[in-house]
Amino acid sequence: IMLSLTVLFVGVAIYISRLMSKRAMVPIETAFQKQKEFVADASHELRTPLSVMLSSINALEMQEEVTEDPFSKKLINNMKAEVKRMTSLVSDLLTLARSDSNKVEKAMMPFDITDAVQKVMESVETLAISKHIDLQLDTPEKLVVTGDQERLTQLIYILLDNAIKYTTPHGSVNIQVVQHGSECILKVRDTGVGIHPDEKDRIFDRFYRADKSRSRQMGGHGLGLAIAKWIVETHKGKIDVESEQEKGSTFTVRLPMSQKVKKS
Ligand code: ADP
Repeated sequence: IMLSLTVLFVGVAIYISRLMSKRAMVPIETAFQKQKEFVADASHELRTPLSVMLSSINALEMQEEVTEDPFSKKLINNMKAEVKRMTSLVSDLLTLARSDSNKVEKAMMPFDITDAVQKVMESVETLAISKHIDLQLDTPEKLVVTGDQERLTQLIYILLDNAIKYTTPHGSVNIQVVQHGSECILKVRDTGVGIHPDEKDRIFDRFYRADKSRSRQMGGHGLGLAIAKWIVETHKGKIDVESEQEKGSTFTVRLPMSQKVKKS
């Protein structure tokens, strides 16, 4: 009798605790959902005042009082740099908040990834030239993959921009695209500062910056690689990094050549 009473008691206790934890999960999930929606709404709302501020600063910059006064010019330049930094932070926050809501519509369609790489190269060229970095391109003439063109272009931009940012002047950055069976492999190699082995996994975390002062100086806020990882995952691909400190890093992205064309 004692044994069956104990078994009954334990059974009831387990049942009650499961019931309670299930009930407790509902408000926690709702709170998380609310928090994600708040971040998405807040970042969306911040975009308009920021663009108004930027255009006002641009107008102010043209004023004679500013062009002729080095101190005012310096202040305006500082303001402009910070507003630009915040605009990019807000846009990255919005991308990640939307990704959390799983309501992002993917526009999956066939496109030429070589063409996308070339366009990104053109947009980062000025930064590379200013640092005397040799940008090398190693791609087939044309390689058609199925994916979200805008997102994959953003992924290539994040990797190339980082490679240039974290490479000291006179170094080199190489981007390679190859087809390997049913996969498209994209490699971005740099001869930059490299990443410490302990930090290799953490650099894909939100707001993680291996070298905070260097990253901030470069205009970074630690969301680029989190977005890159999300983009790769939504395409059912993989992203890895190999790196040696003071020698350089290689980011490798593997993407299936074709995707199911459907909305997520
Ligand atoms: P950030 O805006 O700081 O560049 P990211 O999420 O793009 O943020 O990268 C996170 C961190 O990973 C960076 O702060 C930097 O320390 C490190 N990192 C990223 N790419 C490279 C690279 N090519 N070489 C060395 N370090 C890198």
